Amino acid sequence: VHRPNSGDEGTGPRDGIDEFDAIEAMGTRFVAAARARLPEGPLPPVGEVWIGDDAAVVASGTHAQVLLATDLVVQDVHVDLRLCSVEDVGYKAMMVTVSDLAAMGARPDRALASIVAPPDIDLQQLASGLAEASEACDCVIVGGDLSGGPVVVVSVAVYGALGVGPATGPLLRSGAEPGDRLFVTGPLGGSAAGFRLLRQRLHDRPPGGQELPPSALDRLVLAHRRPRARLDEGEVARLAGASAAIDISDGLASDIGHLARSSGVGISLDAVPVIEGATEEEALHGGEDYELVVATPDPRRISDAYRSAGLRPPVPIGWVTGTPGEMVLRGEPLPPGGWIHRF
Ligand SMILES: [Mg+2]
Repeated sequence: VHRPNSGDEGTGPRDGIDEFDAIEAMGTRFVAAARARLPEGPLPPVGEVWIGDDAAVVASGTHAQVLLATDLVVQDVHVDLRLCSVEDVGYKAMMVTVSDLAAMGARPDRALASIVAPPDIDLQQLASGLAEASEACDCVIVGGDLSGGPVVVVSVAVYGALGVGPATGPLLRSGAEPGDRLFVTGPLGGSAAGFRLLRQRLHDRPPGGQELPPSALDRLVLAHRRPRARLDEGEVARLAGASAAIDISDGLASDIGHLARSSGVGISLDAVPVIEGATEEEALHGGEDYELVVATPDPRRISDAYRSAGLRPPVPIGWVTGTPGEMVLRGEPLPPGGWIHRF
């Protein structure tokens, strides 16, 4: 699930059930159906993680744990083709899916890309974007499906694994402990600010407020059109003893909420790193940054590991607390926000 950067608050009726309740209800139905195939023991089986984390972890048959994730990009919900190219849509669909494996400290291996497109869409451009992202994250596209339809929809499914190195399990949302330090892998709000700038340009409005150098403007636009999955950052954090992680798709405030609920903890933020040209509101609630939020009992070890790997230093943002449901920013309750699909 990721947050469509439309600048509005969500899709669907206000009184409809939200996407999280919808997913939970469907998940319960799927687990019940799984009993026919897996009649004994707990569901999910020990060593597996099903619906509810960034990616599913499966340990089918003789295989070691493998990770599965899928995501959707839908025209006019997640992307506006007046603001980005068809190539960008392909690139983004691949990256946002791979980002869920990055959040588990895993690496993608193979992918399927399924496409719905109206007749006026250049499929070669769409394929170029998908291919460029697949090279950038070292994940081979091996198949998919294609159908005509009223709007562009790209669904990518990836398969991956925990890479080489000392054996540690995947980084789950549920592993954070009170006292852990929280950090993000980079400044936030870039995608939302890039989206805002592109809309201002489209409507021929001045960017308003701030004077930004062209390089900073380009960075924001690129953050919106060409997000990068933080695969190295996720893997290095896992190997350096991180306790939990999630990628920022819905928005920092919303995504740390998912992590806190899964872990049964609270979160106290003391800083929100904002990318140049974005607002704190965009950094907290904008979403689609695809930086990782990581919890760790040993921040020094992670900083050292990032430095050794040549990665940007992790940015401390706060602490995990022992009060479930607590969500504060600089001592004040963190206002809820972020995109929610309703049905
Ligand atoms: Mg995710």
